[in-house]
Amino acid sequence: MLKSELDKDLQDIAHENYQFKNWAKTFQCQPELLFTPTTEKQILKVVELANRKNKRIKVFGSGHSPSDLACTEDFLVNIDGMNRLLAVNQDGATVTVEAGMSLHKLHVVLKENKLALSNLGSISDQSIAGVMATASHGTGAHFGCMSTFILDMTLITANGQVVRCSSTENPELFTAAKCSLGALGIVTQVTLQAEPAFKLEAIQQPYKFPDILNNWDETIHSAEHVRVWWYPHTDDCVVWRANRTEKPITTNVQTMTNAVTTWWYERALGFHIYQGLLNMTRFRPAVIPALTQFMFDKVHSRPMHVIDDAHKIFNFDCLFPQYVNEWAIAWDDAPAVLRQLEDYITKHNLKVHFPVEIRFVDEDDIWLSPAYGRKTCYIGVIMYRPYGNPVPYKKYWKGYEDIMRKYNGRPHWAKAHGQTQQDLRHSYPKFDDFLNVRQQIDPNGMFLNAYLQRHIMQPQPKSNQLLARL
Ligand SMILES: Cc1cc2nc3c(=O)[nH]c(=O)nc-3n(C[C@H](O)[C@H](O)[C@H](O)COP(=O)(O)OP(=O)(O)OC[C@H]3O[C@@H](n4cnc5c(N)ncnc54)[C@H](O)[C@@H]3O)c2cc1C
Repeated sequence: MLKSELDKDLQDIAHENYQFKNWAKTFQCQPELLFTPTTEKQILKVVELANRKNKRIKVFGSGHSPSDLACTEDFLVNIDGMNRLLAVNQDGATVTVEAGMSLHKLHVVLKENKLALSNLGSISDQSIAGVMATASHGTGAHFGCMSTFILDMTLITANGQVVRCSSTENPELFTAAKCSLGALGIVTQVTLQAEPAFKLEAIQQPYKFPDILNNWDETIHSAEHVRVWWYPHTDDCVVWRANRTEKPITTNVQTMTNAVTTWWYERALGFHIYQGLLNMTRFRPAVIPALTQFMFDKVHSRPMHVIDDAHKIFNFDCLFPQYVNEWAIAWDDAPAVLRQLEDYITKHNLKVHFPVEIRFVDEDDIWLSPAYGRKTCYIGVIMYRPYGNPVPYKKYWKGYEDIMRKYNGRPHWAKAHGQTQQDLRHSYPKFDDFLNVRQQIDPNGMFLNAYLQRHIMQPQPKSNQLLARL
């Protein structure tokens, strides 16, 4: 469909020849048209057009999902322009915002109102709607995933309605929509529960990994927020712990000498030199274990102690493009899983990158949240793509996923995985409830795409898929 065929008001927000690439540049698509609405009225027009022309719609946020979750070849929509603060209640610590707002902007808005999010993942580049759609998470035994912050939300549905939902208004839709995979409609507004602004004191220290595995429960509860990084091919790990504090802000860069030292370890050696060395290991993978040990000894084993505003402490530099895989299991099962992963790496003589990242999330009741009904440990594996170059990862992923499956693992929805509808139905007690809500609200599949078709819908033979689209 050509932009010139559209009504004038849609032409203003339509873009031809747009190529979507995710952050890691591992997935891409070429939509027929990209729309960038800045009002609900404009979104309604896009939905009306899609209904009339029998097109599918996919919204993307900041494109950070390492999968084709946000891809489509029909109409792609981005609502970055819908990023305003709509209401704030300082006493109740709640904010209502447009869902295209980035987390970075949300932190600014919250800080201006003396508020902060209670927990956060590694970065804040994502859109609010994007993190909520995949139940993105931080770490902390008593903190749920970020979708648990949602108090109410507004969606535009396939039949062109603006629907509000909360625990009292359309409660079934609400429980489904808090982790929707973008499969229910276009989220335009959310009200979030925050808390009074706070600082975190973070301490990172090296440990022997077997000691941590042998004292698992103690580790999980050793601070409000605990993250473990294991360095495969070694028995080393670092544990990052953060607690709320009233102490004054102190960073690693308070003096000139500290600033230079921090720059050397974190940017020069920890980023640029490491990327160069990793690139060389593409031709000599056998040196990866030695490089891992070197980086641990020289950079990561250095104790770190900082106090700052919470969002600055939660976030860190995720370095360069990467392949990632991350599944959620019951946190009691994690030591056994990690020991088996180590055995698999050794047995198959794999040379893999650090870290294996281990985080903890409290259980919730959101139908498709990977932390539904169980205290959860996320285990993430990574293979960096130095300078965007490919590295072998499939055998590592295969062994990792097989182990996770044995423990009823649930993949992070944003990350490419191999689970089928049957597998997911088995691990999510409310999977069919989600599908029922989806069917009611979007009977013609306007918000489906290849990812959703592959993983959550009944797989259809190719010819049927074509028929369904005609
Ligand atoms: C470097 C890096 C670090 C990361 N760190 C973490 C982490 O610490 N913890 C964690 O859990 N995850 C993490 N992630 C994953 C990330 O949080 C998720 O992929 C998240 O969904 C990305 O948000 P986004 O705005 O980029 O959404 P996109 O990737 O663009 O889209 C994700 C989903 O949201 C849907 N969506 C977006 N906007 C809307 C809307 N308005 N209405 C309806 N649906 C919508 C899309 O259709 C799609 O289904 C990380 C990813 C990267 C690349």
